[in-house]
Amino acid sequence: MELKDQNLVCQDCGKEFVFTANDQKFFEEKGYQPPKRCPDCRKAKKQAKSSGQKYEITCSKCGEKGYVPFEPKNPEGLLCENCFRESRDK
Ligand SMILES: [Zn+2]
Ligand SMILES: [Zn+2]
Repeated sequence: MELKDQNLVCQDCGKEFVFTANDQKFFEEKGYQPPKRCPDCRKAKKQAKSSGQKYEITCSKCGEKGYVPFEPKNPEGLLCENCFRESRDK
């Protein structure tokens, strides 16, 4: 099957980017899902990870602000570090 370059839309910034035939082949060989983000956002995400970026959350228990090392998918029900530790210790 002949692969063609595809235009995909980045789910982060909404920009179109090209998923080249070469990349498609590579992704398919590896069994990866097609990319959801443009190379810029992917790079930014990687950098955020390696720079230890943290996301601010509000603790659902004590209302204090806290930080988590990942992007919260469900902002409700998040605990600050203290409450998290407490809930785990019990
Ligand atoms: Zn993007
Ligand atoms: Zn808390």
